[in-house]
Amino acid sequence: MNDMEPTARARTAIVIGGGVAGPVAALALRKAGIEATVFEAYRPGTGSRGGPLGLAPNGLNALRTVGADRALTDEGIPTPRMVIHSGSGKVLGTVESAPDLPVNTTIPRGRMAELLQGHAAASGVPIVYGKRFVDAVDTGRSVIAQFDDHTTHEADLLIGCDGIRSTVRGIIDPAAPRPRYTGLIGLGGFADTPLGVSDTGGAFHMVFGRKAFFGHVSDGERTGWFANLPFKTFDRETLAGTSFETWIALMRDLFADDRSAALQILDHVTPESFIPASPLEDLPHVPVWSKGRIALIGDAAHATSPSSGQGASMAIESAVELARCLRDLPVPQAFKAYEHARRDRVERVIATAARTNQSKAAGPVAARFRDALMPFFMERFTTPEKMAWQYAHTIDWNAPAV
Ligand SMILES: Cc1cc2nc3c(=O)[nH]c(=O)nc-3n(C[C@H](O)[C@H](O)[C@H](O)COP(=O)(O)OP(=O)(O)OC[C@H]3O[C@@H](n4cnc5c(N)ncnc54)[C@H](O)[C@@H]3O)c2cc1C
Repeated sequence: MNDMEPTARARTAIVIGGGVAGPVAALALRKAGIEATVFEAYRPGTGSRGGPLGLAPNGLNALRTVGADRALTDEGIPTPRMVIHSGSGKVLGTVESAPDLPVNTTIPRGRMAELLQGHAAASGVPIVYGKRFVDAVDTGRSVIAQFDDHTTHEADLLIGCDGIRSTVRGIIDPAAPRPRYTGLIGLGGFADTPLGVSDTGGAFHMVFGRKAFFGHVSDGERTGWFANLPFKTFDRETLAGTSFETWIALMRDLFADDRSAALQILDHVTPESFIPASPLEDLPHVPVWSKGRIALIGDAAHATSPSSGQGASMAIESAVELARCLRDLPVPQAFKAYEHARRDRVERVIATAARTNQSKAAGPVAARFRDALMPFFMERFTTPEKMAWQYAHTIDWNAPAV
């Protein structure tokens, strides 16, 4: 039975969700002297491997704080360059990694979670699988989590790392906003074969096509790709019920007039490595991040659409920042300091990605303006100096939280 003085530092934590934020939060809490147990709804090996996810230098820097960066970079494709093209094949701009920062790594999304879980478990973090969190009682001195198998677990605090459809978010604020649809659906895959394309030499090619957006990276042996298709509205059942063959045919049609690797890749994609369509969503502003002894991090608090390439990195940064605050401060002050350190930054990332989404869903006239103006803007606004607010951000773990 926990009986924690309201002003004392937390010693134990329940972490709900074993995606990205959860394992990193547990590792960081442990480093801060707080014993954390992760509860994940799914059983290991039941999730999909996922499409390509770019882990940015700032995310890798934060992961280094808990010693988990190598677990990902050893397996990912180093991707120091993003090359943006128009549908006609013209290069609109390039974003290069700064030489003094860790190199962006591309890794399948599901595999990243698996590797982080493995690293956390090997470091002594208990991870309990097949435990779906349903409710929590905050006694004022502890939190009791309830699971769908009618079991409970008690600790000094509870951290909701349960993703964009967070149950924890609804418990601390029943009026919390729901995910916002971006107007784009995403599909893709990551295959252990070249998929008909050659090594991109560390570049992730992104194409603002005439009708849709396409990206791919390959190290000659493994290839990751994704497509963002503008769909004004969608219905989940229709998306889920659409066959692999239908999606491939639709994408072949949408990318037919572009100069990109899309058609070669679509010729080689097999159902085994294909990630079916899902709506791309974000959460531009979640007003309540904590209440009592419960707090949110990662997509549960600040989901950005994939266009930022920063969702996982933001989740990792928030995990490390929250643990630093809990190391030094009693729970209510720690939650306040964490939110103060994080809110402006994550909401700026989310807003930047929302602007990119508008460019991806541009109609023919807007697309002509976009292709004409983008080189001008990219040359000025995507230099390492201008991107430093995103990529060069670091968390000083040793600095006392105030
Ligand atoms: C198509 C796509 C492409 C993306 N590309 C990028 C990219 O290139 N770069 C990037 O940085 N980010 C990218 N992202 C975003 C990134 O995946 C997320 O920001 C990141 O996974 C957030 O981590 P999280 O731990 O907060 O949530 P999640 O990774 O969603 O993990 C949540 C976990 O909680 C578990 N869970 C949920 N409910 C419960 C419950 N009730 N009880 C117990 N467990 C529960 C889930 O099973 C899951 O394991 C992309 C996202 C998508 C959809």
